[in-house]
Amino acid sequence: MLISYNVSLKPYNTFGMAVNADKFIRISSTEQLLEVIDLGLEPLWILGGGSNVLLTGDLPGYILKNEIRGITIIHETDEELTVEAGAGEIWHEFVLWAISRGLGGIENLALIPGTVGAAPIQNIGAYGLEQESVFTCLKAINLKDGSEKIFSREECRFGYRNSVFKQECKGRYFITYVTYTLRKNGHTLNTSYGAIVEKLHEKGIQNPDIADVAEAVIDIRRSKLPDPAEIGNAGSFFKNPVIKEGHYLQLKKDYPEIPSYPADAGFVKIPAGWLIEKAGFKGIRRGDVGVHKNQALVLVNYGAGTGKEIVELAEDIRETILQKFKVSIEAEVNIWK
Ligand code: FAD
Ligand code: NAP
Repeated sequence: MLISYNVSLKPYNTFGMAVNADKFIRISSTEQLLEVIDLGLEPLWILGGGSNVLLTGDLPGYILKNEIRGITIIHETDEELTVEAGAGEIWHEFVLWAISRGLGGIENLALIPGTVGAAPIQNIGAYGLEQESVFTCLKAINLKDGSEKIFSREECRFGYRNSVFKQECKGRYFITYVTYTLRKNGHTLNTSYGAIVEKLHEKGIQNPDIADVAEAVIDIRRSKLPDPAEIGNAGSFFKNPVIKEGHYLQLKKDYPEIPSYPADAGFVKIPAGWLIEKAGFKGIRRGDVGVHKNQALVLVNYGAGTGKEIVELAEDIRETILQKFKVSIEAEVNIWK
């Protein structure tokens, strides 16, 4: 096992936070992981692509950089293909792998940064689709005793940008492999999000296939979202709040233009980006951190910003929205303190 010491994590987190890790270990197999656990090394921090973490300071302990690769077909019928992917596979490469074989089910999730192993953690979602819709099971290693557990879909308790790994199992398991079942035939495309419809229309595509939808998503994302290679960010900083219908109707009296989307019966989803913009934060800059000028949901690091400054800005936004709209917004990004 190779341990590197005092490693800068700047290249390993998309916010580009310049913090150091005491010790850094690349994990490319379950066996290597078990060696680390056997040695009783602590504390352990699991890092995938670093696209959903905010690092607020130097990290004591051991960063385990997940590099478990491999894609294995484990079952195939005329309709479906079940595939196990190493948790260190790059999610977007996995999506491209599926599309190149005409496999449906994850095309709307193209170009989401990060690794396969992190996808179940917040049940990644975009353009009306979440990974849970094709999820079969995952393998995870208990960091305390090295035992392996297979989590079924029910055990993962997926929700909106949520799972058991953000709740009671937080920090307890290293996800090593994830199994998905993708459609070979009879796949129903989900083009319900307005932006996809518009993009397909713009391209003159009337009967889209899986690759057309993925390409539309890639085009939209490239044109709309700030690229972490150019400006540090971790995507949406907050989750969209889901509020009671009565509360929404009250807000609508004051703000007739407030956008809303259906949620569970009696509830309504409000875009957090709209609330942030309405509260006057869109495009603001404080030192080297700020709110993106086109995407109010995305907090950014212009270069020399710190995690603590992002936390302060996020807290100011959260408090202002609570006062102004009586709506509580919650961070989606994992804040490492
Ligand atoms: P990391 O940031 O490395 O880790 C995230 C958390 O998961 C950490 O707490 C970490 O300890 C834990 N973790 C990571 N891997 C493992 C593992 N193998 N076992 C156990 N714990 C682990 N998200 C969406 O849902 N939809 C989007 O459309 C979307 N768009 C984005 C666009 C941009 C530009 C960016 C920067 C981010 C976006 N995200 C989106 C957020 C992010 O890409 C996803 O949450 C992604 O799944 C994070 O993967 P990662 O490998 O980078 O995780
Ligand atoms: P957008 O299309 O400008 O829409 C703003 C918000 O409204 C989105 O967050 C989305 O909620 C919601 N919305 C829009 N159309 C909807 C519909 N037909 N039904 C239900 N909800 C709808 O959003 P965007 O910022 O460009 O992002 C596009 C998609 O990529 C979204 O799904 C978003 O979640 C995802 N994305 C996620 C991240 C991240 O870091 N988590 C970053 C970038 C993009 P939902 O977010 O619930 O879908």
